[in-house]
Amino acid sequence: MAVTQDKTMEKLISLTKRRGYIFQSSEIYGGINSCYDYGPLGIEMKKNIKELWWKSMIYERDDIEGIDASILMHPRVWEASGHVEGFTDPMIDCKQCKTRFRADQVDTSKPCPVCGSKNSFTEARLFNLMFKTFMGPVEDSASIVYLRPETAQGIYVNFQNVKEAARRKLPFGIAQIGKAFRNEITPGNFTFRTREFEQMEMQYFVRPEEDEKWFEYWKEKRMSWYQRLGMRQEKLRFHEHGPNELAHYAKKAFDIEYQFPFGWNEIEGIHNRTDFDLGRHKEYSGKDLQYFDDQTKERFIPYIIETSIGCDRVLLTCLIDAYTEEEERVVLKLAPAIAPIKVAVFPLVKRDGMDKIAMEITNNLRGDYRVFYDEAGSVGRRYRRQDEAGTPFCVTVDSDTLNDKTVTVRNRDSMEQVRIKIDELKKFLAEKLKPR
Ligand code: ATP
Repeated sequence: MAVTQDKTMEKLISLTKRRGYIFQSSEIYGGINSCYDYGPLGIEMKKNIKELWWKSMIYERDDIEGIDASILMHPRVWEASGHVEGFTDPMIDCKQCKTRFRADQVDTSKPCPVCGSKNSFTEARLFNLMFKTFMGPVEDSASIVYLRPETAQGIYVNFQNVKEAARRKLPFGIAQIGKAFRNEITPGNFTFRTREFEQMEMQYFVRPEEDEKWFEYWKEKRMSWYQRLGMRQEKLRFHEHGPNELAHYAKKAFDIEYQFPFGWNEIEGIHNRTDFDLGRHKEYSGKDLQYFDDQTKERFIPYIIETSIGCDRVLLTCLIDAYTEEEERVVLKLAPAIAPIKVAVFPLVKRDGMDKIAMEITNNLRGDYRVFYDEAGSVGRRYRRQDEAGTPFCVTVDSDTLNDKTVTVRNRDSMEQVRIKIDELKKFLAEKLKPR
């Protein structure tokens, strides 16, 4: 996947800055490579995406618990997980397909064995994907700790705690949203691949003989979740990992891929991690992490079906999917559920009390939604600003409002305008903005 010159990306990146979605981190110092900050609209959208995920994982079901584990963990965790050992060899990356190879296992004068690209390898270097830091006042090897490269391990080490505290029986899951850090050799394509990012991971613990059934279940379940984000279905597909792609812990893995302007790429992984993780933590911690089935009196290590998605990556995907250029405007056709501002309210002009009524409407809607009041510039320009921000509805107070207490409600996508009584506005918007 090359860093793309596609104009859509350039235009989208500029829009995200202009409208306050995403900024380069530390921009006034020239920025820092592959780190980004979310602005006022970006943070709202991110929160909406996380809420939708959390709702679908926790509130709508009765078999998944949430946790929030710390970023810094005992360094042995990363030995058990394979991260310490797995990334300390001299490594080279294929810049095209991102496959990382042990430098001694690939002939760099030949094309990449995975994607066939020529001259696409980075220089070899001793590489550990994990960011290291020191805990406590002494900076020596005994005080090294890592910034977690995935949130999953925080779930595995809490398997027994959650099972006991929540009195869970198999099958059950543990979900978590949190930051992860990877010292990627080749970050790029805006927030697609960054060194600091947020993951939304769910680990589902099952009886070993039921792994395939649950794998299929989660594969379908996760794909259907993207409908709720309003994503175009034809832009999504599954990609099954072949034997060369499978991670050391995985028996089976499917990616959900999106067709980005820079090609098809992963946005989520669904993995059958078998008993690898709990088995390794049992071995490294010396604690018995087996599950006891009090009906059958069996003792065994559960298998894990993982669903792992990057919040930042999916946010970027939603923006790309929603970005639409029409003859006279650029519009982000975001699903109302994830749009940062749900309603904008304008007085047509700032006189005859129109501004006062518009402000009253704004205050009345506040608390239910993120609402934006705007009285600056022509109404046409205000509409365009909200189109670019992805706001599904604009409400305009005009001179008719003064007589009949109705307002114009404009639909972002169709630009259709309807007259609604102020008294009925809340009900109207609630219906239109109801999550699907
Ligand atoms: P990739 O092949 O794209 O590097 P991966 O296979 O290493 O991804 P996983 O370890 O399965 O990814 O992580 C699960 C999810 O976390 C990915 O599908 C992606 O959405 C997100 N993710 C992983 N690495 C990054 C990153 N560097 N920046 C942003 N999101 C990431």
